[in-house]
Amino acid sequence: MHRFFVSPQAIRDNRVVMRGTVVHQIRDVLRMNPGDEFVLLDNSGFAYRAEIVTIDRDVLRGRVVEKWKLETEPTTRVTLYQGLLKGQKFDWVLQKGTEIGIAAFVPVLAARCLVGSLDDVSAARMERWQRIVVEAAEQAGRAALPHIGAAMLFANACEYAARGGLSLIPWEGERARGLRDALQDIPKSKEINLFIGPEGGFAEEEIATARDHTVVPVSLGPRILRAETAGLAAAAAILYELGDLG
Ligand code: SAM
Repeated sequence: MHRFFVSPQAIRDNRVVMRGTVVHQIRDVLRMNPGDEFVLLDNSGFAYRAEIVTIDRDVLRGRVVEKWKLETEPTTRVTLYQGLLKGQKFDWVLQKGTEIGIAAFVPVLAARCLVGSLDDVSAARMERWQRIVVEAAEQAGRAALPHIGAAMLFANACEYAARGGLSLIPWEGERARGLRDALQDIPKSKEINLFIGPEGGFAEEEIATARDHTVVPVSLGPRILRAETAGLAAAAAILYELGDLG
């Protein structure tokens, strides 16, 4: 059954009122009609089975037929601080990371990013990323929409992450500590901040800055993963290790 994220205001007293492009998608693309049903998600942790009552060019009116609590969010909150990537690779990380169960993404401008500056993260690009996350969350049946934070410089991201949780920076130069070792002392908050470098990796001074902010370097093993692979592999391993992936 089709799933759509809506704002909480769209559902009131078992009545549904939807406006905007999603109405066009439902009516003209999916060709749904009065009597048809779909699932609504409003970021509250609940899902609603709704039946279309009327639909015209701009407004869909429906009624809630069933409401249930969703149990699809991991108990561990993983925030991926991802070095900015060229082309569509960042889109890929957002889509797959949302499916895996990442709670938040923070684009990071690292020294070796092929992307020039924070200005490269335009409002239009953020809007496109938001659409990718919404679509992936609908497909995955997520109860909560992953958040995309404002793009940050690496040092600021280390400071920001230091506000709470266990912060890890997978680094190919780390030989002693593996990911599993680092997960031995999980904070009660079960919050994990995961720093992944851009295509060119992290500079030595960035690893030093990370250590200064108690961001712990870890190895992901002897094979070098592409930047767009490493965050997904590490997040999946963390969620699996902490019982959030089956
Ligand atoms: N230095 C890499 C190389 O020689 O190709 C480039 C960096 S790698 C493509 C991108 C990021 O993935 C790294 O900054 C790191 O965060 C992570 N990464 C990839 N493989 C890793 C590994 N085996 N152990 C730890 N981190 C890894």
